Amino acid sequence: MTTLFISDLHIDSNSGAITDQFLALLGSAAREAEALYILGDLFESWVGDDAADRAQIAAIAGLKALTDSGVPCFVMHGNRDFLLGAQFCAMTGARLLPDPLIITLHGEPILVMHGDALCTDDRAYQRLRATVRDPGWQRQFLALSVTARRALADAARVGSQAHTAGLDYAISDVNPSSVALALRSAAVSTLLHGHTHRPGIHPLDVDGRACTRIVLGDWHARGSVLRWDRGGPELAFLPR
Ligand code: MN
Repeated sequence: MTTLFISDLHIDSNSGAITDQFLALLGSAAREAEALYILGDLFESWVGDDAADRAQIAAIAGLKALTDSGVPCFVMHGNRDFLLGAQFCAMTGARLLPDPLIITLHGEPILVMHGDALCTDDRAYQRLRATVRDPGWQRQFLALSVTARRALADAARVGSQAHTAGLDYAISDVNPSSVALALRSAAVSTLLHGHTHRPGIHPLDVDGRACTRIVLGDWHARGSVLRWDRGGPELAFLPR
């Protein structure tokens, strides 16, 4: 049986083609899968379970149909949709995963993350991440009106785009020491993450141990899926 992993779809009402392609995947290959894992940034922005836009409501309906058909779906928070909560789970039948998490696939333990926590060279982002992941900050934010939350999220997105555009290519990627530390702490040989939009399968050495870092692709210009069966992981791109 095949397990599917995706991330970084960034669905919102401006991304009709991405939403359609996601719904097509949910209605085809995902139906045959052992499970579907969405490792963060399914949505471009998520300001609360009470504030989904039209495209996001369509995605939720697609996920509900998938889980109703008996395929388990697991969702990890990304840096865009870290406010996905209990109501989202109830609407989709999906289960939220902690980040990081070790899963076992075909007998092999795999460390699974969204990936933003590994980008430790971007100190400004890590400070922001610590703030917005704080439960007290989240409670205050969710107490605002949907309009106020959307306005703040839009402003944050503009700020984030300007910040990322000004960064060196290496700084916005994962930090090699943070990757090694994560693999060492988890005592596993395989790390799977998204976030960087730089899909690939990278061999690396951690304390003399042969390890592998697998990076999921984003859905900006094409779909991207990691299929993992008994033969191992295979990164596939879906033309649009
Ligand atoms: Mn991300």
